[in-house]
Amino acid sequence: MTQPVIALKVDVDTYVGTRDGVPRLLEIFDRFGIKATVYFSMGPDNSGKAIRRIFTRKGFLKKMLRTRAPSMYGVRTLLSGTILPAPMIAASFPGILRETERLGHEVGIHCWDHVRWHDYLPVMAKETVAMELGRACALFEEIFGHRARTTAAPGWTVTADSLDIQDALSLSYCSDGRGYAPFYPVVDGRRFATLQIPTTWPTMDEILGENGISPETANDHYLSLVKPGLNVHTIHAELEGKSMAPVFIDLLKRLRDLGARFITLAEGAAEYAAKAPDQMMSMGETAGRAGKVAVQGDRV
Ligand SMILES: [Zn+2]
Repeated sequence: MTQPVIALKVDVDTYVGTRDGVPRLLEIFDRFGIKATVYFSMGPDNSGKAIRRIFTRKGFLKKMLRTRAPSMYGVRTLLSGTILPAPMIAASFPGILRETERLGHEVGIHCWDHVRWHDYLPVMAKETVAMELGRACALFEEIFGHRARTTAAPGWTVTADSLDIQDALSLSYCSDGRGYAPFYPVVDGRRFATLQIPTTWPTMDEILGENGISPETANDHYLSLVKPGLNVHTIHAELEGKSMAPVFIDLLKRLRDLGARFITLAEGAAEYAAKAPDQMMSMGETAGRAGKVAVQGDRV
């Protein structure tokens, strides 16, 4: 088999994930000499409001129980923004964000308010979408001293409006959806200018409990998914940076033994942009996840 190429995409969703999960992941990456791409939630941690999905989204409660979300995320996070005030994430830990970049990792924007984007994007006015990304961009620039070059949509949720605003931000590329290779998205008949680098593997919370996969066998499953071309694996500071850290370390050891080459998504964009075709992008189902995600479709 040709040398596997892997890009690790880190989604940081919460206050606790930023505070505890990111430093742990930085230490793990350092141990393996890996540079990753880390997407930060810049605004308030309203994770507790996700609780309403138990009542509004089919299959969510089942998933919560299957992945033991309360024990993995902690009660504090599950109540943030409900009876407890929503803490501001990036503004609380600018040092952790800067340290991530100082260590050579690529940094990008996950969102301003993760829960609001994930739950309301499809019904949001375009100005509100622009405001969500605009606030995140402003604080990003204040913390890092340069503009953001990439964003990754919360919950893999996009609309033609969100892609249009991302085009207007002149980003190098975005990583908003699920698929198999970099492409230029076509939504509602319109082709967007910002390259999409999709996540090619399922996330840990999607595979646990599916087809009898446990933390002990999760990495066998991941290794079976390694394909030629760019493999993109999304991990979460809240899982792989906390309770799933030992499983993640084992995955990295096994990938290293396979001779994998780890690159950032920016390096992936540079390598694959020229060959990227125009392809449909739409909200669709993915195994193990309640609700829809942006998926790569047919060639246009
Ligand atoms: Zn996220």
